[in-house]
Formats: sequence, structure tokens, C-alpha cells
Amino acid sequence: MTLYKLPKLSFSYDALEPFIDRKTMEVHHDGHHKDYVTKLNKTLEEYPEFQKRIEELLGGIETLPSEVRTSVKNNAGGHANHSLFWTILAPKSQGKPRNELNELINKTFGNFSTFQEKFTSEAVEHFSNGWAWLCAHKGEVKLLATKDHESPISHGMTPLLVLDLWEHAYYLKYQNRRAEYVQAFWNIINWDEVSNRWQEFKMKGATSREWRMAG
Ligand code: MN
Repeated sequence: MTLYKLPKLSFSYDALEPFIDRKTMEVHHDGHHKDYVTKLNKTLEEYPEFQKRIEELLGGIETLPSEVRTSVKNNAGGHANHSLFWTILAPKSQGKPRNELNELINKTFGNFSTFQEKFTSEAVEHFSNGWAWLCAHKGEVKLLATKDHESPISHGMTPLLVLDLWEHAYYLKYQNRRAEYVQAFWNIINWDEVSNRWQEFKMKGATSREWRMAG
């Protein structure tokens, strides 16, 4: 069963240099992410009734049989989070969110640089492996961090922006200097994609967004 597939990157492995180096991208995408996809397919081999869109799978973690629940949570979360992460990265950042999302961020946080500071401290101060998020929830945006590969989708939220905080995401280049990695992230955000995610959330509701998992 190969329902879930490793998505191709829309840019080359060295396209995010010098902020994220080629070797990290190769190991991260072809190693770590691929393993989550392989393990997720393996875990659900004997459970065809649960082979569904990744958002539905993550939205219904509690309905899974207990013997596969932890494995699905880890590997479906790993697959979904990385798939999203690749789409919100871009070699040339447009600097800021667009239109409505820009206004909402200003309204919620006061201004863009305060939002940046709050996201940065959420990401830098998060203890252990995990992810930092900007999510849409009930017409608002909120910041949070999750542990391991826990997805905000499992809590009814829609991810807009995400940053991988696992050491495998930055250790080759930044070692223990997570703060430098988080700072570098601001140079490679695909704000068009993030802004589009907000527009689609507004138009279609929380669970409709496709994860672009072709490839
Ligand atoms: Mn990762």
C-alpha cells in the first residue's frame, strides 16, 4: 500500500542557501521525511479503512485502534508537517504576508515586527523537538508550539505558517544555535503561500485545504 507519497520539493536542495544548507535539505527530505512516509504506509497496511486524506486521518486520531494510534500520530504528523513546511519555504522571501492576513497579523499582534518577535521566542524557547506554528482558528490567528510531530489539525486548527524545531532541521549548520536558525527562517518564507492558505481557510473552512502531496 503506497497511499502516502513523499512530495517533491518545488526548489533545488541548495536553493535555500545560505539560510538552510544543501546537506541538511537532502538528509531532511530524502531521509527523515521519507522515513515517516514509509512508516505511515507500513502502519496502515492492515487498516484500509483508515487510509484516507492526511487531514482526515489527523483530525480523527482518537478514532484509530489503540495499537496503531501512536505510530500514526508520529508518522502521519511527521508526513503532514514536513509536507506543509516545504511549501511555505522559498528561495526568495517576499518579506511580509499579503492583504487580509497582513491586516489580521497587525490587528492581533500590533505590528509585523511584534509578531516576528513572538513567533521567534515561541520557537527558540520551545523545549525539545517539535514545531512552531501560526494557525487559523475560528476567524483568528494564534501562535503555538507542539511537541514531537503533533499537528494542530488534531485540535481543530488550520496551520498557516510552520517551522521545524527538531535538531535534524538545523544541527548540521547551526549545531546548538537554534536562535540563529530561527532568525534565518525569516529570509526564506513563502508569504504568498501562507497568505493563500489564510484566504482558502476563510473561503472554505478549516478542513478543506489540500496539502499538495503530489509527487
Ligand atoms: Mn524535520
